[in-house]
Amino acid sequence: MPNEALGKLIARGDGMLGYCDACGRSRWIDLYALAAKLGRSFPIAQLNGKLRCDQCGSKRLSITISPAHSVLAH
Ligand SMILES: [Zn+2]
Repeated sequence: MPNEALGKLIARGDGMLGYCDACGRSRWIDLYALAAKLGRSFPIAQLNGKLRCDQCGSKRLSITISPAHSVLAH
Protein backbone atom coordinates (compact mmCIF):
# COMPACT_ATOMS: atom_id res chain seq x y z
CA MET A 1 0.00 0.00 0.00
CA PRO A 2 1.42 3.38 -0.96
CA ASN A 3 2.08 5.63 1.98
CA GLU A 4 -0.21 8.47 1.04
CA ALA A 5 -2.14 10.92 3.17
CA LEU A 6 -5.91 10.85 3.51
CA GLY A 7 -6.17 14.32 1.99
CA LYS A 8 -4.45 13.12 -1.17
CA LEU A 9 -7.08 10.47 -1.76
CA ILE A 10 -9.86 12.96 -1.14
CA ALA A 11 -8.29 15.49 -3.52
CA ARG A 12 -8.07 12.82 -6.22
CA GLY A 13 -11.60 11.58 -5.56
CA ASP A 14 -10.42 8.06 -4.78
CA GLY A 15 -12.53 5.70 -2.76
CA MET A 16 -11.49 3.43 0.09
CA LEU A 17 -13.06 0.04 0.47
CA GLY A 18 -12.78 -1.71 3.81
CA TYR A 19 -13.08 -5.48 3.91
CA CYS A 20 -13.74 -7.10 7.26
CA ASP A 21 -11.58 -10.18 7.87
CA ALA A 22 -13.92 -11.29 10.65
CA CYS A 23 -17.36 -11.29 9.00
CA GLY A 24 -16.45 -10.87 5.34
CA ARG A 25 -18.48 -7.71 4.90
CA SER A 26 -17.10 -4.87 2.82
CA ARG A 27 -18.12 -1.25 2.74
CA TRP A 28 -16.97 2.09 1.44
CA ILE A 29 -15.11 4.11 4.04
CA ASP A 30 -16.22 7.72 4.51
CA LEU A 31 -12.91 9.51 3.85
CA TYR A 32 -14.32 12.90 4.84
CA ALA A 33 -15.39 11.63 8.26
CA LEU A 34 -12.03 9.90 8.66
CA ALA A 35 -10.10 13.04 7.72
CA ALA A 36 -12.20 15.11 10.10
CA LYS A 37 -11.24 12.72 12.89
CA LEU A 38 -7.59 11.97 12.10
CA GLY A 39 -6.58 14.92 9.93
CA ARG A 40 -5.99 15.07 6.19
CA SER A 41 -2.26 14.51 6.58
CA PHE A 42 -2.80 11.15 8.27
CA PRO A 43 -1.03 8.42 6.28
CA ILE A 44 -3.28 5.62 5.10
CA ALA A 45 -0.55 3.10 5.89
CA GLN A 46 -1.20 3.84 9.57
CA LEU A 47 -4.95 3.19 9.41
CA ASN A 48 -4.49 -0.37 10.67
CA GLY A 49 -6.56 -0.79 13.82
CA LYS A 50 -8.17 2.63 13.45
CA LEU A 51 -11.13 1.40 11.46
CA ARG A 52 -13.94 -0.69 12.83
CA CYS A 53 -16.44 -2.89 11.03
CA ASP A 54 -19.91 -1.41 11.52
CA GLN A 55 -21.40 -4.87 11.26
CA CYS A 56 -19.48 -6.94 13.81
CA GLY A 57 -17.21 -4.36 15.50
CA SER A 58 -13.99 -6.09 14.46
CA LYS A 59 -10.95 -3.91 13.88
CA ARG A 60 -9.40 -6.32 11.40
CA LEU A 61 -10.22 -4.43 8.25
CA SER A 62 -8.31 -4.78 5.00
CA ILE A 63 -8.21 -1.59 2.98
CA THR A 64 -8.35 -1.28 -0.78
CA ILE A 65 -7.93 2.03 -2.57
CA SER A 66 -10.07 2.47 -5.65
CA PRO A 67 -9.29 5.09 -8.31
CA ALA A 68 -11.89 7.81 -8.78
CA HIS A 69 -13.53 6.41 -11.92
CA SER A 70 -14.44 3.09 -10.32
CA VAL A 71 -16.10 4.90 -7.41
CA LEU A 72 -18.26 6.92 -9.77
CA ALA A 73 -19.30 3.70 -11.49
CA HIS A 74 -20.28 2.34 -8.11
ZN1 LIG B 1 -17.18 -7.40 10.40
